[in-house]
Amino acid sequence: MSPPTCNDHAALVILDGSMGSYLETHYQQDLSTKLWSTKLLHSNPHLIRQVHLDYLRAGADIISTGTYQIAEHNLDDLEGHYTMRELFHQAFRLAVESCQRLEQELQKGHSNTMANPNSEQVTQNRRQPPRVALSLGSFGAVVGGGAEYTGEFGCADDQIYQFHRNRLQVALDVLAEEPQYSTYVRWVAFETIPSYRELEILTQVLHDLGQISPWRTILQRLKVWVSLVCRDSVQIRHGESLAKCVELLHQCPDVAVVGVNCTYPGDDGGSIRKILEVFRKATDKPLVCYPNVQLWDEELNQWSPSSLVSPASFAQQAQSWARSGATILGGCCCTTPAHIHQLYRAREAFEG
Ligand SMILES: [Zn+2]
Repeated sequence: MSPPTCNDHAALVILDGSMGSYLETHYQQDLSTKLWSTKLLHSNPHLIRQVHLDYLRAGADIISTGTYQIAEHNLDDLEGHYTMRELFHQAFRLAVESCQRLEQELQKGHSNTMANPNSEQVTQNRRQPPRVALSLGSFGAVVGGGAEYTGEFGCADDQIYQFHRNRLQVALDVLAEEPQYSTYVRWVAFETIPSYRELEILTQVLHDLGQISPWRTILQRLKVWVSLVCRDSVQIRHGESLAKCVELLHQCPDVAVVGVNCTYPGDDGGSIRKILEVFRKATDKPLVCYPNVQLWDEELNQWSPSSLVSPASFAQQAQSWARSGATILGGCCCTTPAHIHQLYRAREAFEG
């Protein structure tokens, strides 16, 4: 496994923002299927590429593949048109092509900040090489019903193990078949993990696949991050101790980076800051941090409009997250390229 460094050149890496909620609000997509945004890999790949480009042009160094909710048992959404292997091929291809497109634009010297046409130009000398993270959500995300926020999956450990193992194997097989992607695809992101039990299973899957060729070879080229969804700085969503979960991840040699996502930052970002402080006390691994910018109203079953954190406030709050040790910063639900662009513009202040 690679050593726990998190970047190619600079100390602070900027991750992209939401894909699903951005597709719904900005591109008016109906994603109400079991596959969520992954559905568009089949039905509207142009839009997936456009979202990647929106974030890259806004200043993201890492974009995440549209595979968060990919699962064998959800493929009937696509009426037999695609296998999981074909969806991974498609997702990697779209992400890699988007990175190459950005590089071409930068070489031509006219970085196109379409998402923020009035902003300063994103210039090549302030950019890191664009990279791709393979996005893999919690088992709860493919169960549906918001199970990734409760950690109640209603099934045996072995079923969760087989799910994560089979899905990761297929993705790694695709990367083995497409060695030209290795320049760009550098990360595996296990996201929105709500329970200690799922963490234990994930670390077992990583250990087991790391023993077997050819998956060992591919995993050694990648860095794995595991990101938790938290109630607060004491508990993750299923109720286990956050500190205990971080300790487990700290002890796992197959996990390079740890952190938090899909969690509301609270007033002035203090909730996320306290969570990061728990991470920092328990591990010296690099920290990834990509919160939501709206609060889910469970009674109304919608995002609370009054809770929205503006892009400027988000970047302001992110400064305190960087001071608390986060070295990869991005956004989760309801974030947009405008949020990521504010992070990009503020990067020097974070590093200072
Ligand atoms: Zn989220």
